[in-house]
Amino acid sequence: MLLVCSSYYVKSDCNCPKLATPADVTLVTAPTCIPDTVCLQNEGFDTINSTAYKIDVNLQLTNVDQTDAFAAALSRWQGIITESDSPFNTTTLPADVNPPGTCTNAVPEIVSSIYVCGEIKPILNETGGVVDGVVGVAGPTLLRPRNSTTNITGTTIMGFVQLSPDIVDDGIFLDTIIHELGHVFVIGMFNLECSHLEFVGCELLT
Ligand SMILES: [Zn+2]
Repeated sequence: MLLVCSSYYVKSDCNCPKLATPADVTLVTAPTCIPDTVCLQNEGFDTINSTAYKIDVNLQLTNVDQTDAFAAALSRWQGIITESDSPFNTTTLPADVNPPGTCTNAVPEIVSSIYVCGEIKPILNETGGVVDGVVGVAGPTLLRPRNSTTNITGTTIMGFVQLSPDIVDDGIFLDTIIHELGHVFVIGMFNLECSHLEFVGCELLT
């Protein structure tokens, strides 16, 4: 289902022969936001697309100028993944399952293929200190159940991307978003000790 150019790091100049035409992603203002933050969602958030892979996102950015890079990265991944996934009703989730990340806006009621919360904020360690030299962390947080209607196991329905403000102006912004989104799609995920993927006590990928 996943077609990627290299092992997991898709460069912006990637010349993958199977790369489908990216499905354009338009980002629009989200319903609510917190101060000093730009909150965006994809156009068509919380709608079902049964013919194409659709990434529903809540984004919390530090500047509206970061919008185009996120739209480009999301378009790239939607062009790489060639099939839609089975819609998943998040209202059926147990109450103790937390949404990924700390995005202010709610998760979609129906996840068409995948939902991602993406934030730009300092990356902190367990004691609250800023982690030096890490530009982003990301990963899946909740998987579709085994033997679901499409019999796909372990397909991510929710994930998060967290990027450091330090990368915004240093020229690797787009590449870093693409890279971290790959981890949400379980590419480069090798921590098999995460028996459930809520990342409580699990190591995050960077
Ligand atoms: Zn990585």
